[in-house]
Amino acid sequence: MLFYETLLNGKFVPVTLEGKNPRERFTDWMLLEQPFISSPIEGGMKQAQEKLKALDFSAYHKTRNYLDGAVSGLSPYIEHGLIQPDEVLKFIDTNNARIEAYHFLQQLSWRAFFEQKYLEDPSLIWKDAGEYKTGFTAADYADVMPDDIIKGQTPVAVINQFIEELYQTGYLHNHARLYLAAYVVHWRRVKWQAGAKWMLSHLLDGNLASNNYSWQWVASTGSTKPYIFNLDNVIEFANQKYKTQRTLNVDIDKSYETLKQQLFPQIVESQNEKGH
Ligand SMILES: Cc1cc2nc3c(=O)[nH]c(=O)nc-3n(C[C@H](O)[C@H](O)[C@H](O)COP(=O)(O)OP(=O)(O)OC[C@H]3O[C@@H](n4cnc5c(N)ncnc54)[C@H](O)[C@@H]3O)c2cc1C
Repeated sequence: MLFYETLLNGKFVPVTLEGKNPRERFTDWMLLEQPFISSPIEGGMKQAQEKLKALDFSAYHKTRNYLDGAVSGLSPYIEHGLIQPDEVLKFIDTNNARIEAYHFLQQLSWRAFFEQKYLEDPSLIWKDAGEYKTGFTAADYADVMPDDIIKGQTPVAVINQFIEELYQTGYLHNHARLYLAAYVVHWRRVKWQAGAKWMLSHLLDGNLASNNYSWQWVASTGSTKPYIFNLDNVIEFANQKYKTQRTLNVDIDKSYETLKQQLFPQIVESQNEKGH
């Protein structure tokens, strides 16, 4: 398995864990790089069962994309083996809720899918699955996370809040992860690997497969087009807790048309040429 050497000294250096004690190597690396803050998310099998019992599948379907939607919060428990996906399935069947739980199961299956993809060839986990479909090549993207992102002091207030939330809790809603990843890769033109490593090292549910394949999907190396968003989209899905005022989020407060021209000028140019 490969991890990447600390970002603080500039470049990314792949570190082979084979032949070493991976656990020790990983712990050293984490201690060097990350100050530990304890999360308010309480661990334990009992807590996992409570979260499962509290799941409202119908509310999940209707609200799961909202930052305060009725998502399960099960990912840290699943990741640490406190509850198995099979137990979740059994719970759904015991409650005769397979149809109601359809959308939840669809999301849960992404985890298994990414895990399977990873297990098929673990050596690919840090490699670009394809080219960037952004008009740029991988060489155009920075290897290192900008300091203002690491410090949560970017020019975009809502992005800073997501970063703070990630540091304080070790968890982010899926939509916030998408926004944050898109900001890192597309607004700041940083390699998805740098962002993925950074996020992974702060997540309580950090899972190499789900994390890296999701980053590649956002980046477009693992999908057909880059994922971007704008402030109007954040406003639609955020609640009052988030600082979505326009004056505090100027860099993302643009139409999709303007953003595409700003972020992917070569693509827009080549589409215009084809159109004429
Ligand atoms: C950039 C990025 C990084 C991510 N990194 C991780 C990660 O390190 N670990 C991780 O478990 N998930 C990751 N995800 C997927 C997803 O964001 C989380 O699984 C989800 O937000 C966890 O919250 P929840 O348990 O309330 O999810 P729910 O919506 O309640 O879903 C239930 C379960 O299904 C699985 N699941 C849901 N959505 C996804 C998804 N899109 N991909 C894979 N599995 C999913 C999880 O196991 C989750 O616990 C990432 C997504 C993005 C966009």
